[in-house]
Amino acid sequence: MQLVDKSEKLIDVCYDIRGPVLNEAKRLEDEGHRVLKLNIGNPAPFGFDAPEELIQDVIHNLPQAQGYGDAKGLFSARKAVMQYYQQKGMLDVAIDDIYIGNGVSELIVMAMQALLNNGDELLIPSPDYPLWTAAVSLSGGKPVHYRCDEQANWYPDLDDIKQKITRKTRGIVIINPNNPTGAVYPKAFLEELVEFARQHQLVIFADEIYDKILYDDIQHHSLASLADDILTVTFNGLSKSYRAAGFRSGWMVINGPKQKAKGYIEGLDMLASMRLCPNMPTQHAIQAALGGYQSINDLVLPGGRLKEQRDITWQLLNEIPGVSCVKPTGALYAFPKLDPKVYPVVNDEQLVLDLLLQQKILLVQGTAFNWPEPDHIRIVTLPHAEDLQDAILRFGEFLEQYFR
Ligand code: PLP
Repeated sequence: MQLVDKSEKLIDVCYDIRGPVLNEAKRLEDEGHRVLKLNIGNPAPFGFDAPEELIQDVIHNLPQAQGYGDAKGLFSARKAVMQYYQQKGMLDVAIDDIYIGNGVSELIVMAMQALLNNGDELLIPSPDYPLWTAAVSLSGGKPVHYRCDEQANWYPDLDDIKQKITRKTRGIVIINPNNPTGAVYPKAFLEELVEFARQHQLVIFADEIYDKILYDDIQHHSLASLADDILTVTFNGLSKSYRAAGFRSGWMVINGPKQKAKGYIEGLDMLASMRLCPNMPTQHAIQAALGGYQSINDLVLPGGRLKEQRDITWQLLNEIPGVSCVKPTGALYAFPKLDPKVYPVVNDEQLVLDLLLQQKILLVQGTAFNWPEPDHIRIVTLPHAEDLQDAILRFGEFLEQYFR
């Protein structure tokens, strides 16, 4: 039989968060080792249960969720999303502007496939959540990375963005709060970004899946609420703030001059129809999630588990000689720098593989987030404080020995 190879469409597509190092971790676990996994932002395995009301709503509605539903999603779920964004200042949002998906992941791919022609460029942050880069490549587009500036709280570097724009640039992705850096952007800064998008007629893709995971009283501003005259697509879902990543339920909201985007919306509607409909049972949790008491606050306010874990991660990382970490003000990650003068890493994937083999600790290398130099790693702040402490101390010891 002929060799069966992957499609050429996948040659430039890369998603290393679940790459070869994870396979090695699975192998170690199969051999009976305990691996401390600090690699994926999946709250449930770390004891962060979804609110009980969400689970009950899914159970209650399960018998009525057997058939296909509307291709864009359940009416009650979309209405709840609409009201949520109206309250966040997007006054023109209507029910037809909302698409429910099997996680934000499916919607990111749909949003790119509906927009990009071969060779079209999309501005994407570096570092990024790498699905954005992968989805652009899969759709025939060209990801163009703009730099986020570690010296400036990891805010996007506007000068770099300006230099990267070309006649082929179609849009810009903003991840706020950010994965992997944990940065949350202030309103004035978002307004500058909006002005830039306005001048260059860019569509803005605002990935706001961590919009409620905020520390130290920081405010989150939905980008679309600052830009009624620009086409924006906002993404959010149940996976993080509602700790229900396995429900695979997210949403996408179109805002701004929709009459100028009829063709794009037609494309989105077609892609939504082609997948028939999103997972029916878990859409019933969306209304419960968005209304009422927000239990995530118990976790992120002082005394809350997520805040304490963020604090200890940041503090202990900075205590390792040659390691520095900007304080994350949102999301579930820290993205420390390993000073190249102290730790001359050549291949950061090899570094995290060796850490795994020697210490049974699983991190993700910075280059997996399309960061150009091998001098960062990402650590998830979901484990209990004792586990984080143990992992970070052992990471420090490992670095010391590795470069001795
Ligand atoms: N966007 C960002 C920034 C993420 O960090 C993630 C998951 O880690 C996603 C999107 C995907 O989320 P979902 O579980 O809704 O597919």
